[in-house]
Amino acid sequence: MARPGILILGGGFGGMFTTLDLAGWADVTLVSDEDHFLFTPMLYEYLSGEVEEWHIAPKYNELVDEKDVRLIRDEVTSIDLDAKRVTLRKFKDPLEFDALVISAGGITNYVGVEGAEQHSIPFRKIGHADALRRRMVDALDRIPPDLAPQDVRRDLTFVVVGAGASGCELSTKMADLLLDAVKRRALQGEPRVLVFEMGDRVVPGMGEQIREFVEEALREAHVEVNTQTRVVSVSADSVTFEHGGVREELKTAGVVWTGGVKMRPLIEQLNVEKTSRGLIKVRPTLQLVQHDNVFALGDIACCPPADPTLPGTAQLALQEAHVVAHNIKAFLSGHDLETKHFEELGEALSLGTERGAVLLAGGKAFGGALARQARFALYTSRLPTWHHRLRVGASWFFGGTEPRPLLPLGMERHLSA
Ligand SMILES: Cc1cc2nc3c(=O)[nH]c(=O)nc-3n(C[C@H](O)[C@H](O)[C@H](O)COP(=O)(O)OP(=O)(O)OC[C@H]3O[C@@H](n4cnc5c(N)ncnc54)[C@H](O)[C@@H]3O)c2cc1C
Repeated sequence: MARPGILILGGGFGGMFTTLDLAGWADVTLVSDEDHFLFTPMLYEYLSGEVEEWHIAPKYNELVDEKDVRLIRDEVTSIDLDAKRVTLRKFKDPLEFDALVISAGGITNYVGVEGAEQHSIPFRKIGHADALRRRMVDALDRIPPDLAPQDVRRDLTFVVVGAGASGCELSTKMADLLLDAVKRRALQGEPRVLVFEMGDRVVPGMGEQIREFVEEALREAHVEVNTQTRVVSVSADSVTFEHGGVREELKTAGVVWTGGVKMRPLIEQLNVEKTSRGLIKVRPTLQLVQHDNVFALGDIACCPPADPTLPGTAQLALQEAHVVAHNIKAFLSGHDLETKHFEELGEALSLGTERGAVLLAGGKAFGGALARQARFALYTSRLPTWHHRLRVGASWFFGGTEPRPLLPLGMERHLSA
């Protein structure tokens, strides 16, 4: 008898962990426009060289046996739920399915700010981290050794937009890397890293306890935090912002955008029930409201009323993946589907190259160098597959997790091409 065909769109946290649970059970096909999984929570450590690309971005064909899962690297261009067909950009024949998993994740939301998409660097992929590292190296390489401290500060001014966890993790990391490079190159003065945030505080979605550690880390890294500040436009070498009704332009060497996530056109075009934010509405079984054989999870899905602390996180996508895999098996074998209460597993932030902050599920928080180590230990256990975890864990244990300084371009690994 032919085995059922399961088609999984997107190989991030939702899609990859669903694939791993279903591999070998049915005819599983994973379609992704990338050739690798990305453990996004450690993209900051990749920027600073504390981890290597292979640690956090293993290739799909290293994680799954291609006898069990068909891997297709291509972009999904349309989904026809009634005809049970998915069309890809390069692959000529449409793909058919018995059960479909939509786990395409979100994209950077520039909220219509003039010039932001064109001139700022997003921070969601390996290529984005490479581009940012290169931008910092280029700025450093342009500075002559005898430049006055105030001019060094001006030429090494970087802006991070958004003071959510991402903006705070990124800005502290950049500040530490830049300051280290200034010292190593015997330049005068200090770099300047600013964060612009529309709201009235940093890490708005997090509790007071962890916020204290974040604020302390920002202070120690000399990051200038500007709350209630709205970015109005971005150009190739400046950012214009508004604070208290006053508009100002600041020259910058680079602007990094962490100011939000939105739905990609593939999901926008899908004619199914959505929330006011455009997320696909799913039932507690993670099935679409009107399609029993279609499941959605991760950043693009919402099961109203969603637990407000969880949507848009890897930990939610990961937990949902196990439910989706279980429910697809149940659905295709005629058994009852499960519904699950998703648990808050705590938070772990990387704050600069020497500190971290961890919020345990029970609400207790701690920070500093110990939290940085704890984060590495915690994330080793969350990487996909035992084999990969063991390889990476051994590499961190024996090889260390020291940051890689921002060297002149010719000496930078990966970036010299
Ligand atoms: C820098 C950064 C740090 C983060 N840190 C944390 C953290 O510390 N803790 C936490 O809980 N969450 C964190 N998150 C959020 C977390 O990464 C997301 O919530 C999670 O990845 C969502 O999983 P997903 O499967 O929905 O989407 P994703 O992981 O984004 O995966 C989507 C996949 O689909 C592919 N895809 C998209 N469109 C198509 C298409 N048309 N055709 C083919 N393939 C396609 C993409 O290439 C990608 O592989 C972070 C996010 C970022 C960007």
